[in-house]
Amino acid sequence: MTEASSSTVLVSEIFGPTIQGEGVLIGLPTVFVRTGGCDYRCSWCDSLHAVESRFRHDWKPMSTEEIWSDVTRLSGGKPLTVSLSGGNPAIQPLGDLIDLGHGEGYRFALETQGSLARPWFSQLDTLVLSPKPPSSGMVCDLTALADCVGAAGEGPQTVLKFVVFDAEDFAFARNVAARFPALPVYLQPGNHTPPPADGEGNVDIDGLTERMRWLVDAVAGERWFSAHVLPQLHVMLWGNRRGV
Ligand code: SF4
Repeated sequence: MTEASSSTVLVSEIFGPTIQGEGVLIGLPTVFVRTGGCDYRCSWCDSLHAVESRFRHDWKPMSTEEIWSDVTRLSGGKPLTVSLSGGNPAIQPLGDLIDLGHGEGYRFALETQGSLARPWFSQLDTLVLSPKPPSSGMVCDLTALADCVGAAGEGPQTVLKFVVFDAEDFAFARNVAARFPALPVYLQPGNHTPPPADGEGNVDIDGLTERMRWLVDAVAGERWFSAHVLPQLHVMLWGNRRGV
């Protein structure tokens, strides 16, 4: 086992095991470590409890060992894939946690918008880069995104994931994907439902289904045959509820 470290990470929540609900690892059992804090403010963010400072009192500074204790307790000590999410988990020092978990046979997947490159990206098993499209109200920094791809290098499986609400988002996904032709692409219809304050929430399943069909038609119409189109499985099963 790798020697223990004292990195302190700001944690919003740790939960599971559940399944990864989207992207390249969809359906895979996982424990989530959701960090607190984000350098973005997307208009349709579904994780505001891990983004906005008004929720900061819920975030807990945890040592690598404290996080690891929770992960091993939740997984029953049986190695699985740990999903690092946020917020933007790239803000936090997660390299020691990844080292510690690898020593115990666990694997690590991280999702980030690709605004901050970290050397420890190369230690990951899966890196999901999810550049935010125009509907988010944010501007994607393609140089920073390229830096993230470079930091990961040959270490993890690196993929692109795009949330798509409309034709402008779809065109954005096409353009960004064209800049990184070696990276697999995952597309998912956007979820407009704002997360409720109490953490429970229903979603407009009919609207999501309609957007999913539109997205499938758009991919087929463009002959974009290397793209994967997937729904958010956890949203279909549990809406916007937290901790599942
Ligand atoms: S990057 Fe992700 S966590 Fe941050 S505001 Fe946007 S959707 Fe929310």
